[in-house]
Amino acid sequence: MQKEKVIIIGSGPAGLTAALYTARANLEPLVITGDQLGGQISITSEVENYPGFPEPLTGPELVEKMQAQAEKFGARVDYDYVTEVDFTHGSPFTIKTQNGKEYAAQSVIISTGASARRLGVPGEEEYIGRGVSYCATCDGFFFRGKKLVVVGGGDSALEEGHFLTKFATDVQVIHRRDTLRAGPILTARAMRSPKMAFTWNTVVDEIVGEGVVKGVKVRNVETGETDTLNTDGVFIYVGHYPNSAIFKGQIDMDDQGYLITDDYMQTNVPGVFAAGEVQDPVWRQIATSVGQGTQAGMACIRWLETVEDELAAEAQK
Ligand code: NAP
Repeated sequence: MQKEKVIIIGSGPAGLTAALYTARANLEPLVITGDQLGGQISITSEVENYPGFPEPLTGPELVEKMQAQAEKFGARVDYDYVTEVDFTHGSPFTIKTQNGKEYAAQSVIISTGASARRLGVPGEEEYIGRGVSYCATCDGFFFRGKKLVVVGGGDSALEEGHFLTKFATDVQVIHRRDTLRAGPILTARAMRSPKMAFTWNTVVDEIVGEGVVKGVKVRNVETGETDTLNTDGVFIYVGHYPNSAIFKGQIDMDDQGYLITDDYMQTNVPGVFAAGEVQDPVWRQIATSVGQGTQAGMACIRWLETVEDELAAEAQK
């Protein structure tokens, strides 16, 4: 079993920042990336609200910079996926991965983030990769000259919907209410776009096609009226859920699965910290995840120092 001082599970802004801080304390943290290095920002088209970058940069560009900065100080990044944790006996904690590795970690920072929620309608699963997508940066290019539908009324729907206008002839945003959840800047930009249009008070009941997506069956929630809209693709942005399933029964979480932390980003298990969207149902910004990663990293450093001090005092008795 490989021994580590700090294992960081997840490689989004929270995890890479925790890695930077613990690396600068000479703890040589090991970051286990999960499915996707960088997490959600790796599929974000443009980042415009992260301080220090007045010109927008792409999500992958920001991830690359964060990774390089953490590695420069001694963080190690392993492209693997944690499948099992055992926090029940206290530190050192056992962590097992998809590639068959097993670690004994003195401390752990959980930064597994959140994933795109599914709409949960017939046709959605069937057409993933054949017209249904959750990632405009990954799949937008395949819809050059096509008609698209975006589902949702939040910042993601409008930001990624606007990005899709680079490729599509028109982008129809379908929102279940008549007021957007998105902030004013993204709303104004979407409203100005000649390629974007809105269908209000409307839900998608089914995604239909023949091998590939051909349309969506929609229903007006006010009038009950139904219709079928022709489209070549459906991009779904209806929120997120925390990636916390493997911690169930070991780490306290709320009824939606968000991990519960104290003021020091520590979970109910001493030595196990959490940062970023896996423990934040409210703010969910790159900047807030970076802040939480900083707090978790610093708290972890302090916790390890305290444990070492206690061991040294024991030894002197
Ligand atoms: P979100 O803010 O939770 O918005 C989800 C949208 O999906 C809402 O409009 C919601 O409708 C709709 N929705 C949820 N379930 C639905 C269903 N079953 N059927 C139809 N519509 C459904 O999620 P998000 O847009 O992904 O944003 C997540 C966080 O990231 C937010 O804090 C956001 O500010 C942040 N973010 C920021 C930026 C930026 O600042 N540039 C960009 C992207 C994301 P209701 O409005 O009716 O609830």
